[in-house]
Amino acid sequence: MEIVRPAITSIGGYVPGEQPQTHDWIKLNTNENPYPASPTVSEAVAAACHRLEVYPDSSATVFREAAAEVYGVDPDWIFPANGSDENLTILMRTFVDPHETITYPYPGYVLYETLGAIQGCKVDPMLYDGSWNLDCRALAKAHEAKLALVPNPNSPSGTLVDKSSYEELLPDRGLLVLDGAYADFADRQEPDEVLTGKFERRVVVTRTLSKSYSLAGLRFGFAIAHPDLIHAMTKVKDSYNCDSLAIAAATAAMKDQAWMLSNRDRIVATRQRAAQAFPELGFAVTPSHANFLWIRHESVPHERIYEELKARKILIRYMKFPLVSWGDTEFDGLRVSIGTDDQIDALLVALKEIL
Ligand code: PMP
Repeated sequence: MEIVRPAITSIGGYVPGEQPQTHDWIKLNTNENPYPASPTVSEAVAAACHRLEVYPDSSATVFREAAAEVYGVDPDWIFPANGSDENLTILMRTFVDPHETITYPYPGYVLYETLGAIQGCKVDPMLYDGSWNLDCRALAKAHEAKLALVPNPNSPSGTLVDKSSYEELLPDRGLLVLDGAYADFADRQEPDEVLTGKFERRVVVTRTLSKSYSLAGLRFGFAIAHPDLIHAMTKVKDSYNCDSLAIAAATAAMKDQAWMLSNRDRIVATRQRAAQAFPELGFAVTPSHANFLWIRHESVPHERIYEELKARKILIRYMKFPLVSWGDTEFDGLRVSIGTDDQIDALLVALKEIL
């Protein structure tokens, strides 16, 4: 007797990046922030610890108010979740029926495909061309989709889809999800501008506190969207999807914009320095708007570079993508999260030895 749904049996499941639990690694593989969160976060968590015997506020009001102020919207436009990934799951469950199609740029965030498979809907990726642009054939897929999910900036490339393309990316009878996990590291584009006019009920922006706010271990993300969309998503979420400690911590982090922005600036400066250093070692670097760089070496196999760095306790992400538009073979490369200056220097020294 087959107990597991065929849709689940047939997928491999999303494989997250390695998370070694010892502190002796230089960890540049899952786009975490190398700097700690605002000190106000631990104070807020300590205070929240005194009231764990009661359930949390199911709509995380204090967080919604803090985020609303930052983004210039009403609190009822903010939808908190247990990480951005939970928001993506809720979006699928709220808006996509099995006979419908989702689309997303490819190579991109691999989780979308897995979520589509779990939902049992059709998946039809928009293939990038060799320069990380979407041509009209790719964009045409967005028109027919129920959800078009676009990470902006994209992972692993760090490239931006320009705002002028949003109209073309808008499904005729569906939603455009702008996944802004890395948006704070980009030097342009704010979410509120794309939530007005004809986009008002048709765009959902998702954000996370995992990257720019240094809170990957906390699990907190949020969506910004018209209250009608949020009303529907609220019916789908678990009642208490964000716990009291997470709500307190995320609210404190959101209120300390100066802390986040100064870490963001340090990371962007290190990214610029790294982007100049990698070509001297034979790497092609894709210009990035995120807290990571996609690099490809002219001659040495990427998997070997990854393994040799790992043997030196430096973790970066080796990624390979079948099905790219520009060739028959698998496309692979290395994604390097931007750490501190010292971490990037250690990586560059190790790479010199390896190459
Ligand atoms: N979207 C993109 C494009 C990501 O790369 C990630 C991180 N893996 C997420 C969403 C999920 O972020 P979170 O930690 O908030 O679940």
